[in-house]
Amino acid sequence: MGFATTAIHAGNEPDPTTGSVTVPIYQTSTYAQDGLGRHKGYEYARTQNPTRHALERNIAALEGARFGYAFASGMAAIDATMRLVKAGEHVIVSDNTYGGTYRLFSRILAGYGVEFTYVDTSEVSNVEAAIKTNTTMVFVETPTNPVMIVTDLQAVAEVAHRAGARVVCDNTFMSPYLQQPLEFGVDIVVHSTTKYLNGHSDSVGGVVVLNDEQDAEWLAFVQNGAGAILSPFDSWLVLRGTKTLAVRMEQHDRSGRAVAAFLEEHPKVEKLYYPGSLSHRQHDLAKRQQRGFGGMVAFDLGSLDNARTVLESVRMCTLAESLGGVESLISHPATMTHASVLPETRDRLGITDGLVRISVGLEDTDDIIADLDQALNKIA
Ligand SMILES: *Cc1c(COP(=O)(O)O)cnc(C)c1O
Repeated sequence: MGFATTAIHAGNEPDPTTGSVTVPIYQTSTYAQDGLGRHKGYEYARTQNPTRHALERNIAALEGARFGYAFASGMAAIDATMRLVKAGEHVIVSDNTYGGTYRLFSRILAGYGVEFTYVDTSEVSNVEAAIKTNTTMVFVETPTNPVMIVTDLQAVAEVAHRAGARVVCDNTFMSPYLQQPLEFGVDIVVHSTTKYLNGHSDSVGGVVVLNDEQDAEWLAFVQNGAGAILSPFDSWLVLRGTKTLAVRMEQHDRSGRAVAAFLEEHPKVEKLYYPGSLSHRQHDLAKRQQRGFGGMVAFDLGSLDNARTVLESVRMCTLAESLGGVESLISHPATMTHASVLPETRDRLGITDGLVRISVGLEDTDDIIADLDQALNKIA
């Protein structure tokens, strides 16, 4: 079956009691049991919920995975994944991950005896050099936010597996429609469903998918034991969202390319960050590993003043954090999403005061470009 068919049907069987074509929102905390030890497989809603299970089967199918677990946020999904690592073990991490991931690792988990090394994973030799005898996980994000650095998943997986370490990929920016990391040997995929998977900017959630049975059992145990589950209503929203993932990502990708091409030619734009551009140093790798380039585009306007002018002059694009929704969102990484990153790290990564990031939405492409054009023309 093709991706769009899977997106619409996996996990979405008509409800056995009523025939309801959409999976009902099972808004219950508990389930009546027929007798002692006799029940329908559902005892308590932290442990089992049919709406959540439907979503978990759906996203697992989209990533080509056997198992899926949904959590209350992307961060909760990443936190649960990190419970596979124990005190005394070592994790190698992309040095330009989502800020919340860096905060979780450096400020919370490091206090429990887990050791982290942050490297530029776009050079696989950096990963190889960072491996230690106690390395049990390599955690990568590709492309990264906001400067769109691409990591070669297959090369990293080979290096990590040789050392006996698992590879986790945060696939939030691409969605399974544009990139399926398990294909390249990655062991575990995490998503913030808040972004493209839900796609409508009206739910916060996360998911973990994987193939290894033992790790899956532990994740199920953590999901129930720590309890950061996705609610039935949010599960239903994301399930509704993934049904249109294929058509949405096609359009995000189409408009993303058009917006990037427009920006690249614009005299006020000093630098473009978009793996779909021929000028991106990893364009070939992105082309090999991804089915498209998506709707995330970043560009440098040279100064805070110029960035502010554009961010405050857009009319249709909304100045806001987050991404992956139907509406175009524009943001200033240095003061918004990446404010907690050390200034010298921001400089090294290219997250300058002039950098602007846009999540290209599903409005008419011409309207998005016209809005950016009028805002760019306000720069003195
Ligand atoms: C948003 C995001 C997260 C965190 O997800 P939440 O749902 O906000 O907790 C993790 N990784 C990436 C790449 C993200 O964009």
